[in-house]
Amino acid sequence: MLTACIKDCPDCCSIIIKKELNKIKIIGNHDHPITKGFTCAKIKKHINRLKSPSRITSPMLRSKNGFKKISWNQALDICFKRINPILKDDPEKILHVQGHGARGITKELVDNFFTFLGCTKTCGSLCDITGIQACIDDFGALDHNNIKDVLNSSHIINFGKDFSSSSIHLTQIMHNAREKGIHITSIWPGGNNYKNHADKLIRITPGTDRFLVIAIVKHLMKDEQINQSYLKKCAGKNKYFKIINKYSIEFLSRQCGVSKKDIRYLANIYSKNKISTIIGWGIQRHLNGMETVRHINALSWLSGNIGYQGAGVYMSISSLKNLDLSWTQFKPKRSILLPVLADEIEKCTPKIKAAFINCSNVVNQAPDSKHLFKVFRDIDFTIVIDAFFTDTAAAADLILPCTLMLEDNELAGSYMHEYLQYSRKAFDPPDQCKSDFEIAKKFNEIFNTKFVFPDPEECFRLSFPKSDTDLSFDEFKAKGFAFAGKNKIVFNKTTSHQNKLFSLVQTLSKEPDKNPDFPMHLLSLINKNFMHSQILPEDQQSIPVVRVNPDSKNLKKINPDKKTFLVTDLGKLEIKIKFDKSLHPDAIIYRRGDWMMYKGGINTLIEARLTDSGNGAAYYAQKARLENL
Ligand code: SF4
Repeated sequence: MLTACIKDCPDCCSIIIKKELNKIKIIGNHDHPITKGFTCAKIKKHINRLKSPSRITSPMLRSKNGFKKISWNQALDICFKRINPILKDDPEKILHVQGHGARGITKELVDNFFTFLGCTKTCGSLCDITGIQACIDDFGALDHNNIKDVLNSSHIINFGKDFSSSSIHLTQIMHNAREKGIHITSIWPGGNNYKNHADKLIRITPGTDRFLVIAIVKHLMKDEQINQSYLKKCAGKNKYFKIINKYSIEFLSRQCGVSKKDIRYLANIYSKNKISTIIGWGIQRHLNGMETVRHINALSWLSGNIGYQGAGVYMSISSLKNLDLSWTQFKPKRSILLPVLADEIEKCTPKIKAAFINCSNVVNQAPDSKHLFKVFRDIDFTIVIDAFFTDTAAAADLILPCTLMLEDNELAGSYMHEYLQYSRKAFDPPDQCKSDFEIAKKFNEIFNTKFVFPDPEECFRLSFPKSDTDLSFDEFKAKGFAFAGKNKIVFNKTTSHQNKLFSLVQTLSKEPDKNPDFPMHLLSLINKNFMHSQILPEDQQSIPVVRVNPDSKNLKKINPDKKTFLVTDLGKLEIKIKFDKSLHPDAIIYRRGDWMMYKGGINTLIEARLTDSGNGAAYYAQKARLENL
């Protein structure tokens, strides 16, 4: 069966599922120009999720003796009794939290249903918003060239993207680039994952890329390599160049830990044409993430490396970019900030009395997990829609069992490439599991609202772009995917701002002073083997592993053979150490996603705070240390 993987992954693969005897085979669709016949391990793990004995298959109600199974009729009756009076009193007292654990058009509709009800919604993001806002501030829109245009570059500069962990198809494109003789230079905090995907690696002190970028711009100025026609198309020049002129290259080199020789090397590359710049999403998870992305954008613009074949900056595109959602858009009455959700809920007036959570293991994924868990427990009635007993489900009063990807039809786009995918139902869900869409529809019935839920297929038809693809909706369904990209090259000496000018960043923030109690940067990086926290209970390892450089002076007193803890000002977790000499000596690498109920949960140690702008979560601002018992 032809279908698609629409997990929260940029690749958005077209896949073929073959059921042979008792075996299930998943193959990447060879005809899809990005998937090209291969997939990753995560989709195979997804099949285990569908069949897992840990799956929740009936509604579960909290009781004095733990959770007990109840019927759907009982569950809906309880929802009506507990929620309807609050809804009638003031819908703002109901919080709706929806993540991207499952993506697609019907999920957008569910989100809009709760907005229509007038519930309190969340704003900001745990993931991409800081970088998105940076690009919008600079260019007036979030966009990049067709991803395959990197193959027309003369050189690719990668600011911190761990290709192999975040996108195997971008990794393949990078391999193709190198086969064509295009060099890749990666600026990275260390770690083995980068080694096979770059011609040169430049190690940087975590979170200091903005200083490196300014040093490169200084060289370009000295060498008269600032592109004058691009310079003319900039707003904010005076303040920007005042910043550039304020610091010496020596100072900037010390700040970022990159040698003057490597800064020179990078400046020589940016003096040429056809440079593609890739921005890893980790960059924006630092405290000054917004500023850093903006400085990288400015470097690319001022060096004339945006807006023609082979030249562009790649952060991301919106996965909804090519879909028409005008038919289902409502504005939230009240929104609270997701990255600091526990504090936000606590200070809400009127007070939050009930919560709906779907598509998100938010307790595990948001910073300050223990606090958030407590806050959800303190809410009068919390409903969690999930397929597993996650850290979030554990905070619920009522758990409603949902379907998983490949158990429903869905339509989704990618945030890397411009193909829309039809994700066809390939498996029957366990008896009592319902899609989020069906559950929201049930709520609509019991609360007797005026919201109109079209049939899912009708939703897909309404959202399918009318003009930007050469396929009809039915042809798209049969083929499984459709190209819907409008622009192959974006920002050709112009931007989407009203004045058409590129907007130069106006700040350069200092690094916070070092804290001798917590001298190391805690980087909770993406996990190559699992999609965020979608780790089955049976796959959870009891003691998490961190990677550090054995030569780090911060580890002088550590004996890795003894019981060791990762410590921050929020608490500590027992960990095992693995050494990696390539890592920056001040970095601690933790692969995120494991659950706090299984002695993992890195977000129990990460303080909830916002990035410099854009309302993102500043996970990598967290400082830490290791200590023995
Ligand atoms: S998780 Fe990503 S790479 Fe893996 S199959 Fe799904 S879309 Fe493709």
